[in-house]
Amino acid sequence: MPEQIHDRVEACYLQAEAFFKRPFPRPEVSFKLRGQKAGVAHLTENKLRFNLQLYRENQQDFLKQTVAHEVAHLIAHQLFGLSIQAHGEEWQLIMRGVYELPPHRCHNYAVQRRQVQRYIYRCTCPDTKGEFPFSAQRHALVAKGRRYFCRRCKVTLSFTGEQRVE
Ligand SMILES: [Zn+2]
Ligand SMILES: [Zn+2]
Repeated sequence: MPEQIHDRVEACYLQAEAFFKRPFPRPEVSFKLRGQKAGVAHLTENKLRFNLQLYRENQQDFLKQTVAHEVAHLIAHQLFGLSIQAHGEEWQLIMRGVYELPPHRCHNYAVQRRQVQRYIYRCTCPDTKGEFPFSAQRHALVAKGRRYFCRRCKVTLSFTGEQRVE
C-alpha cells in the first residue's frame, strides 16, 4: 500500500522537474506519522512523513492532494530556500501551476470528521422515528442472528437495504 504513495511522490517530482526544467533530489519517505496530521514535510532534511491510518481512510484524496501538498513544500524549499512562508505564494504557485490543485492551506482531513457507513434499519413507527442508522459492527451482528427491537412499536428492526455515509 505505501508503494502507491511512493509512486505518487515520484510522479509529483517528475511533474515538477518537467515544469521547472531542473532536477530535484528525491526525499526520504517515512510512514511513521500518527495522530491528526496527514503529512509533514521536513524541509532541511528533505524528508516526508505520511500518516498511513489517514491514508487508508481517504486514499484517493490523500494521494492526489496530500502527497502533492507535501512534495510542493520540498520543491518550494529547493527553489526558494528558508525565507518563504510555508503556504505562501511560492508554494501556491507550485500547487496551482505544477499540480493544478487548489492550494488548501491546512492539511484538510486531518481535521475532518471520520466518515462512517450507516445501515438503515426500520421498525413500523411513522416517518423518521422509525429509522435506525446502524453501525457496520451492529449490522454484522444482525447478520449473525442478533435481533434489535423498537421500544415504541416493539417490532424487530429490519434492514431497508439503504446505506449512507455520515
Ligand atoms: Zn502544508
Ligand atoms: Zn417503532
